[in-house]
Amino acid sequence: MSSSSSAAAPQTPREAFDLLLAGNRRFAANSQHYPNQGSWRRSALTQGQEPFAVIFSCADSRVPPELIFDRGLGDLFTVRTAGHSTDPGVVGTIEYGVAACPTKVLAVVGHSSCGSIAAAIEARQSNDLPNGFIGELVQRVLPSVEAANRSGRTELHEVVAENVRRTVRELVEVSDVIGGKIDAGELAIVGFVYSLSSGETDIVDAIGDLGRIDLVDVVSVQAERATYAADALRQRVASPMAG
Ligand SMILES: [Zn+2]
Repeated sequence: MSSSSSAAAPQTPREAFDLLLAGNRRFAANSQHYPNQGSWRRSALTQGQEPFAVIFSCADSRVPPELIFDRGLGDLFTVRTAGHSTDPGVVGTIEYGVAACPTKVLAVVGHSSCGSIAAAIEARQSNDLPNGFIGELVQRVLPSVEAANRSGRTELHEVVAENVRRTVRELVEVSDVIGGKIDAGELAIVGFVYSLSSGETDIVDAIGDLGRIDLVDVVSVQAERATYAADALRQRVASPMAG
């Protein structure tokens, strides 16, 4: 099974998305294949890498991308920060994964019970940021807390989903590299929320040529989605409501 997963490199954003989703389902069901993790794979990769996905996730030790998507060496180009907060170096690294590698999907992965999001909620309530660079990091998550609160969503899991969606939108808006790839139909960006308890991921946002996929939490997303559409984003949004 390891060699087959290597041979069947996804050619489209949808194929790459399906590969990620299938791996997560195997992980959640405790029926992993552990593909591409042997010494043969290590040897095969010495001349170069051809990952099929960029994963931008929270740094939390309970959310390791290769494990939760059941992948191996050379499959995922991973970028991780607490609360998947961005800065120029982070976006530059993601752009490298998108432009210099044959990746077809960019996944933003947040998770339940995220300490970074909880810290941002607390900072907003207390009007006090943590010391050091952690304060800077929490500050970058605050707009998600405020956006969620404005629409009456104050629970941690609601802010987690909002933060994933905002990160998805931010990456598309600030990066011409990412936006251009999506425009060309060569890349899709997907927002996942991973459940620490079930091991499953919910899809809370998606942009790009993915065909129809099911998003969760579509009711609370709806108002914002209308706003995004009005903003004339340069790519279509793949969701049940778009059809
Ligand atoms: Zn986290």
